[in-house]
Amino acid sequence: MIRMHIGFDDTDSPRMGCTTYIAALLVEKLHKMGVAFLDYPNLVRLNPNVPWKTRGNGALCLRVKCNEDLVEAIMEMVIDTVERHADLDYEGTDPGAVFLFQNIPEEVKTFAKRTIQGIVKMKEALKLIKKFKAEAVGFKKGRGIIGGLAAIGETLEEDHTYEIITYRTPENCGSPRRIQMSSVKDMDAKTSPLTFNNIDPETGRILITPRGPDPILYGIRGESPRVVKEAHEMILPMEPVERWVIFRTNHGTDAHMKKVGSISDVQPFNPVVVEGFVSVAPRVIPGGHVIFSIEDKTGQIDCAGYEPTGTLQKVAKQLVLKDYVEVCGGVRPASKNHPNTINLEKIQVLRLAPKTTLFNPKCPECGRRMKSMGRGQGFRCERCGFRSAKLGKVAVRSKRDLKKGLYITSPRSQRHLTKPHCRYGREKSGKPDRMIRNWHFP
Ligand SMILES: [Zn+2]
Repeated sequence: MIRMHIGFDDTDSPRMGCTTYIAALLVEKLHKMGVAFLDYPNLVRLNPNVPWKTRGNGALCLRVKCNEDLVEAIMEMVIDTVERHADLDYEGTDPGAVFLFQNIPEEVKTFAKRTIQGIVKMKEALKLIKKFKAEAVGFKKGRGIIGGLAAIGETLEEDHTYEIITYRTPENCGSPRRIQMSSVKDMDAKTSPLTFNNIDPETGRILITPRGPDPILYGIRGESPRVVKEAHEMILPMEPVERWVIFRTNHGTDAHMKKVGSISDVQPFNPVVVEGFVSVAPRVIPGGHVIFSIEDKTGQIDCAGYEPTGTLQKVAKQLVLKDYVEVCGGVRPASKNHPNTINLEKIQVLRLAPKTTLFNPKCPECGRRMKSMGRGQGFRCERCGFRSAKLGKVAVRSKRDLKKGLYITSPRSQRHLTKPHCRYGREKSGKPDRMIRNWHFP
């Protein structure tokens, strides 16, 4: 028997397809060939800030054990399936598949982490493939080889979650998704917080159904295979479900977030976590976005809360100079209109600066608040007529409405990788539990 890790990526386009659907097809085919699965299919989200991603930047890995004489047939079947279901006519869709045998080398694991948290080059992927005698097939530019190898290397031994994804029949793809909305609310009430991001709390919008032309009917995320399967059984679809699969993923784990020591270490296109003092007060720019800057000894950077991220915008607006914060988000590179900017996913308010407001002085004679006689002219009391050129404004410390703590963008604008509030304290580590019996259909 031989262990075989099958990674693939970059098969979809903004107009069609989904790499997870190809995984679901492969699961059925491999199952029919009689191979044993070593894990649920792994759905690994890579750096969401790379400029060339399609939608979610998700790569897939199937891990199986099979007789050595099946290897050739499996590879052929995988390559054929990827070729038939990828949107090869679309410019920018460059699929790739990688096959790695036996155990995952540490170097490949490190490569995977870097692909999730930053930018890697094709050259590095090809070097590792050669070094560890893996096989790789690329279509067109073959960029999917990078993601395929990264999915193989991300063994999800640290924090991970599960997602059950159901797929539509081809004739329904492209039309509005039909599921009973009330069943989603019931499912959420019964299974959250062990399932998460089912419904957006601020708008009431159902989040389990995507809106694109992909073949996904809905996906439910949760802490265990069992809970996502139970949740799925509570949903009433109003159209046929062609197939479903449970994936093990890095969704909702903040796996992309890498803490950097100082602002000068912040790199474009990378997701970062960095601390600093508010150095330019928040301002609202056209479109309703809020921008502020933070600084440390090494530099200053802009942070942006965008309109759809309701929660963060409200928080960002309440920041004042000298507040000490930790910000998390992807770095948008500078253009001629703006410098490098962190698109906020989270803000941790660590220390609040005292907020002071300047008031006119009180009259020393009668105690009434005085009126200014003009800039630099002193103050005059309207009640008793007392005047003084020496009195100045007095600073009064006012209460801050903002509280210290962690603020996360609203579920509707969270990235796949963003760890939501309800997952704090539920992080997993170590090998996953044994697989449940029925984790895919058909
Ligand atoms: Zn007075």
